[in-house]
Amino acid sequence: MAQLIDGKLISQQIKDELKEEVAQFKAEGIDICLAVIQVGSDPASSVYVRNKKKACAYIGVESRSYELPEETSEEELIKLVEELNADESVNGILVQLPVPDHIDEDKIIRTISPDKDVDGFHPVSVGRLWIGEKGFLSCTPAGIIQLLKRSNISIEGKECVIIGRSNIVGKPMAALLLRENGTVTVAHSRTKDLKEVAKRADILIVAIGKERFITSEYIKEGAVVIDVGMHRDEANHLCGDVDFADVEPHSSAITPVPGGVGPMTIAMLMNNCVETVRK
Ligand code: NAP
Repeated sequence: MAQLIDGKLISQQIKDELKEEVAQFKAEGIDICLAVIQVGSDPASSVYVRNKKKACAYIGVESRSYELPEETSEEELIKLVEELNADESVNGILVQLPVPDHIDEDKIIRTISPDKDVDGFHPVSVGRLWIGEKGFLSCTPAGIIQLLKRSNISIEGKECVIIGRSNIVGKPMAALLLRENGTVTVAHSRTKDLKEVAKRADILIVAIGKERFITSEYIKEGAVVIDVGMHRDEANHLCGDVDFADVEPHSSAITPVPGGVGPMTIAMLMNNCVETVRK
């Protein structure tokens, strides 16, 4: 049977470590504050924002909420972000994505000061990641590295195949696996012979956004499989991009959905909040 990589447990360990670190900072008179901006009231976004604020409360970071109406203009949002950039009592700024269609998401991301970019989406953060400079790491891929390390799965020298090349998962994942000395392949919708490419992987990371797409036909016997996908199937069950029941018997370690990658994203966001005050 495959080792189940327990994201719930590992994310809890990380949050507990951060809680201690935050308490030490508080004892030195250093408080951490995260500004959380939500535009509109998309129900999924509201759940994410609530969970982020809960995690802040747990580790002892203040979350300052800005709930703006759907019709907020791009100029108004930019003005708020600029004010928060200048506010010394605010350490990190998070704008919950997606923003409504009339607002240019890229413009908002670029307005956030790179020093407060806890999501790690600003081009400066992305550039630092690729050249190996210290900076804010994109939360989901950083969480995956923690899942692997804390499950004693070594990356160095391994064939790592990522399926998906989004800016928030696939691309930063490639940079982080390279940093850990993995041999990295990034596959996408134009990749030829995807099954053959996937079968090269010692570590397969799947971020396609298609329900139970990856079956055992894509898996080398004994591979480690990390499933980033998150869906609700017809029976209203949560599931990933990987067909867990089919793939699990062929893997040496695998993340479940839910309880795998999902909880790690918020834990790493909290880590980035604490990073704002680390020397
Ligand atoms: P995305 O922006 O939609 O990107 C999907 C990627 O998959 C694209 O690069 C696309 O290729 C590739 N792809 C699509 N169909 C393919 C196919 N048939 N064969 C090979 N590649 C294919 O998705 P994302 O934002 O990275 O998210 C991926 C999944 O992860 C979603 O289910 C999302 O909900 C989930 N997610 C979870 C978390 C978490 O915290 N757990 C965080 C982020 C995302 P092209 O570039 O060629 O179009």
